[in-house]
Amino acid sequence: MAKTTSELKNGNLMLKISGAIDEHFDFGQFKFEEIRALYINFSQAEAINSRGIVIWIRWFHDAISRNKKLSIFFMECPRVLVEQFNLIGSFVPKEAVIKSFELPFTCVACETQSSTMLIEGKDYALSEQSGLYDVYPPSMVCQKCGKPMELDVFPKKYFNFLNRGRVPLA
Ligand SMILES: [Zn+2]
Repeated sequence: MAKTTSELKNGNLMLKISGAIDEHFDFGQFKFEEIRALYINFSQAEAINSRGIVIWIRWFHDAISRNKKLSIFFMECPRVLVEQFNLIGSFVPKEAVIKSFELPFTCVACETQSSTMLIEGKDYALSEQSGLYDVYPPSMVCQKCGKPMELDVFPKKYFNFLNRGRVPLA
């Protein structure tokens, strides 16, 4: 069952999303006029379908239209969301900063799958020179056989959402 839990503290609204984001999904109603920053943790989000995407886009549009200064931070975005970020241009509000997201790995030796969270400022950062995000994917060793693991995604495609809409400075 999909659900949203929320906590409001000193003008910061923390939402934790779990389950599938579909036609039944409800982000919740909040007084965005009184909220400074919105933090959304997606670590337990399992899937999103086209109806869920419509609900998502409407909800963010409403939040931002009610508070133009609202800061938005996305945390622990799983692969299923990152893939949608890459597919649909208007999916990530331009006001949102992605603080962390999942990077999947696979072991070519024993086919074990694994993943790690990339963290802004550590694994990727906005370059002041280029005006674009640079990503420094960490290396990962297979827990099962000890061999180095490989990325389970095409980096150019998978990291594309970070720089969408950004204009290179140089
Ligand atoms: Zn392995």
